Amino acid sequence: MVTLKVADILAESVVDGLGIRTVVFFQGCPRHCQGCHNATLIPFEGGTEYYPEELAEQIIAKMTPIHRGITFSGGDPLAQADGLLDLVYLLRKAKPDLNIWLYTGYLFEEVKDLPVVKAVNVMVDGPFILAQRDINLPFKGSGNQRVIDIPATMQNNKVVELKL
Ligand code: SF4
Repeated sequence: MVTLKVADILAESVVDGLGIRTVVFFQGCPRHCQGCHNATLIPFEGGTEYYPEELAEQIIAKMTPIHRGITFSGGDPLAQADGLLDLVYLLRKAKPDLNIWLYTGYLFEEVKDLPVVKAVNVMVDGPFILAQRDINLPFKGSGNQRVIDIPATMQNNKVVELKL
C-alpha cells in the first residue's frame, strides 16, 4: 500500500496561502534550486512515513473552525503524487469544502493532467529562482512562480492566476 513521507505538520500558518492554514511539509524534492527555502527537505531519506488514512486523521485533528484550509508544501508534494491523491480523496470525503493549496517545483503545464492537480484549489508552480527572488510577492518566493486558480484554469483551458 502506498505511503507518504512527511517531514512535519504545522498546525497553523498564515504565510502558506490565504487565511489560517494547516501545512504539511513533504519529504523529498527532485530539484536542487539554489537558495531553496527548505533545503533539509530535498533528500528523500528521512521524514516519517504515513498511510494516507493516518495522515488525513492527523491533519483533520489539527484543524479548527477558524482554519481556512490546508497547504501541501515541501519538498515537492508531487514527487508523491499517487499517495497525495489518496490523501486528497480522504480529506475531501471528511471535509467536502476543504480549501487545498499545493506548492510544487513543476510547471502547471508539465503536471496538468495529474488527477491530484485537478483536485486542488490553488497551485503555486515552478522552481525557486534565486535571481528572481522577491520577498514582497504574496505566497511565493520568486517572480517566475504563479499562484494558479485551478478550477478557473480548468474551466478556461488556460492558466488563470489567483487575484491577491
Ligand atoms: S522545488 Fe522547492 S523544495 Fe524543491 S529544491 Fe526548489 S525550492 Fe526547494
